[in-house]
Amino acid sequence: MRVLIVEDDLIIADGLVRALTQAQYAVDHVADGKVALRAIQEGVYDLVILDLGLPAMDGMDILSQLRQTHHHTHGQSVAILILTARDELHTRIKALDVGADDFMTKPFHLEELEARARALIRRSKLGKNLPLQCANLSLDIASKLASIHDQMLHLSARELHLLETLMMRMGKIVTKEQIMESLCNWDSTLGDNAIEVYVHRLRKKIDPSGAKIRTIRGLGYLLEAAQAHPVA
Ligand code: CA
Repeated sequence: MRVLIVEDDLIIADGLVRALTQAQYAVDHVADGKVALRAIQEGVYDLVILDLGLPAMDGMDILSQLRQTHHHTHGQSVAILILTARDELHTRIKALDVGADDFMTKPFHLEELEARARALIRRSKLGKNLPLQCANLSLDIASKLASIHDQMLHLSARELHLLETLMMRMGKIVTKEQIMESLCNWDSTLGDNAIEVYVHRLRKKIDPSGAKIRTIRGLGYLLEAAQAHPVA
């Protein structure tokens, strides 16, 4: 899960980056509104935490630009959590009307923000169909627990991210670039070989479930159930 923090108060931003990184999200931070809009439109984020008062372009403008762009663009669907000051009731209402999914008033507790972030990601990605399931493999995004036949699967943080990325796009090809984006921050990189190693390890671990990671040569990977179950 990849989160973008848009906040020009560097102390608040730093706290958020630390807390969310610790909670196993891939986290990026920008302080400038225009840069933020471009980054969000690239479509790699699952959640944007957006401060309203920003240099270059304010948060409300970013929000309305994203929500009024054409259908099927990422800007329509990405979950957006607004950060506002305590006395800005009118602004909060406007933000929700324009299309924010939730808001937090400053100062806030990081634990609460994390809980809301989890809820938003779950809501926007999965509706109410929890957990994700592929053959006998299941993954609960909220608790970050993977299991096979109710037997807990022990995964490293990166294996878990990888599994999450593949399960979110089950039955579709996921490119190495997309995997890289979900596993890395801007300041860390991962080579092709490293991704192959993670895929190899994960493939072995999930093998008993009947879920298979297929290598699509030159394109990427695809997660699917080994045998398609006929629809009754
Ligand atoms: Ca600000």
